[in-house]
Amino acid sequence: MKNVRGILIGRMQPVHNGHMEVIKQVLSEVDEIIIGIGSAQMSHEIKDPFTAGERIVMMSQALADSGIDPSRYYIIPMQDINFNAVWVSHVKMLTPPFSIVYSGNPLVKQLFKEEGFEVRQPHLYDRLHLSGSEVRRRILNDENWKELVPNATVDLINEINGVERIKNLSQKEVSDI
Ligand code: NAD
Repeated sequence: MKNVRGILIGRMQPVHNGHMEVIKQVLSEVDEIIIGIGSAQMSHEIKDPFTAGERIVMMSQALADSGIDPSRYYIIPMQDINFNAVWVSHVKMLTPPFSIVYSGNPLVKQLFKEEGFEVRQPHLYDRLHLSGSEVRRRILNDENWKELVPNATVDLINEINGVERIKNLSQKEVSDI
């Protein structure tokens, strides 16, 4: 029988517990999930500190730690393109066929709906705290960020001296003003 595939696209800067909860929800509804690592060209900026490769390591290790069967997911980096009107075609070119799009991002939802896809809004998991911007804010302010992310994200950030990277990037931006 044909596998039903869903797609979740996110910047994952960094991968946090909200992403992992959404992925588990999606996998309770479809056979396979395509996880798009969005804005793959971006890194070393205060809002996008991690490379696509670093985000892939966080995600693949977090999925392995969660015990999710590797045959049920694909992790695919996706660069942004300047043209929103053809972005869905760009995504389709990079991915296995899919029929259901999971997103809480208004632009993503709009673009896929216009192309006829079924779009589902994932449950919100503690959105106040489980967001990439809150994790980055806590890293910058020496607050407890580790409770918001899987161990795999902590390990990768430690491995690449990610805390120092974020602090250095923020200093650079302040001195550039
Ligand atoms: P994100 O990492 O903030 O979120 C990813 C997904 O997880 C979103 O659907 C979000 O709603 C969901 N999520 C996050 N935290 C959650 C929580 N606590 N509970 C429930 N759900 C939660 O990433 P994003 O900003 O949505 O990523 C969209 C990507 O698509 C970006 O990389 C963007 O650049 C790209 N994009 C590109 C184009 C283009 O190139 N023209 C157009 C549209 C979108």
